[in-house]
Amino acid sequence: MFNLILFGPPGSGKGTQSEKLIEKFGWIHLSTGDLLRKEIANASQLGLEAKAFIDKGQLVPDEVVIGMIGSALDANPNAKGFLFDGFPRTEAQAEALDNLLAGKGSEISLVLALEVSEEELVARLLNRGLTSSRSDDRDENVIRKRLQEYHNKTAIVADYYAKFGKVAKIKGEGSIDDIFRLLVAKIEAKQPA
Ligand code: AMP
Repeated sequence: MFNLILFGPPGSGKGTQSEKLIEKFGWIHLSTGDLLRKEIANASQLGLEAKAFIDKGQLVPDEVVIGMIGSALDANPNAKGFLFDGFPRTEAQAEALDNLLAGKGSEISLVLALEVSEEELVARLLNRGLTSSRSDDRDENVIRKRLQEYHNKTAIVADYYAKFGKVAKIKGEGSIDDIFRLLVAKIEAKQPA
């Protein structure tokens, strides 16, 4: 089983590249942002609680997203691999994910970290806000709060996995196809195609 974390700040292209990667490699795509938006669309209790955090640009509590990921792993016992997108976002989430995977005799294979300058991130997110249905992309204050949460709580997740020699950094600026090729090369170096 190949387990990839596609890591990076909001607006770094994780969602776009995840779609291309799962099409190529046939893994299950687990995006906690997408799972939370589904809960909100269904007006579930969990969705209602999560929306209050998302609308302020804050992270949703760890136990909520860890529970969702645990259920998704259990629901896909025969997966050939998972692509984690937007998770883990705190060190506690990273530790919980390691434990969940260890319980299935597996582990994180690789962390690919997309690097994009701050001004490019803000420009991309505001631009996405013009057309997307995501309310958290439309307000520059919320965007800046999300980036602050990333720096304060999420950036250290890369350090956590770097201790195990699992992180490769990728420049996330340029054409979508060029970035995709860089990601694929790193994956194939770990997992011969
Ligand atoms: P995303 O679609 O990944 O940008 O996530 C949108 C929002 O959902 C984030 O700004 C957080 O409020 C929340 N969220 C998504 N994934 C997580 C996570 N792993 N931990 C905490 N909050 C999350």
